[in-house]
Amino acid sequence: MTFQELPLRESLIKAITERGYVEPTEIQMQAIPALATTDTDFVGQAQTGTGKTAAFVLPLLHKVDSNSRDVQALILTPTRELANQITEEIKKFSTYERTKSLAVYGGISLEGQIKGLRRDRPQIVVGTPGRVLDLIERGVLILDNAKFAVLDEADEMLDMGFIDDVKHILSKLGETKKTWMFSATMPAPILSLIKTYLKDPLVVKV
Ligand code: AMP
Repeated sequence: MTFQELPLRESLIKAITERGYVEPTEIQMQAIPALATTDTDFVGQAQTGTGKTAAFVLPLLHKVDSNSRDVQALILTPTRELANQITEEIKKFSTYERTKSLAVYGGISLEGQIKGLRRDRPQIVVGTPGRVLDLIERGVLILDNAKFAVLDEADEMLDMGFIDDVKHILSKLGETKKTWMFSATMPAPILSLIKTYLKDPLVVKV
């Protein structure tokens, strides 16, 4: 299978091809058509190195409305490094898109991130749970029109003690949003989170 056969718009295929990707990986083949063309919750059991980042970044870029400047997608990650890495991936695929993204995480000044949110008006926000919750509670990160929540490395967020923040954030997002979760392992608290917060998810294991 090639990327041309995936249901993504031409401008995205062009950026993917220019980046040198030829064949989608297993998780990309299984996730991209469903996430880009249907309206489903999703669970992907996949390790780092499987291409899981592009498996959710590409459908998000396909679906986000770049004419609106509301935050439409929130991606939660366990670490600031991962938040930066995902934001870089989004930028690499956005050569022909107008969609903007911003990484927010703890350990650096809130001020800069508040300014960034107000200045850039990103449609996609990538962040660590504590800082995201802080920005929501300060009324700076407004998720009223968010349509997608992505939990990346959910098992790592659990191990790092972020699970309550994650649940709190999910409960603040509207009922109509879709939740896409990626996790390398499926311990009991993750299964219970899926049961409580996801509705009939499509489950893919690679
Ligand atoms: P990830 O599992 O998302 O961290 O991706 C692992 C690495 O594989 C990253 O360096 C990606 O840039 C690269 N990668 C992801 N998908 C593809 C693909 N379809 N073809 C070639 N490289 C890829």
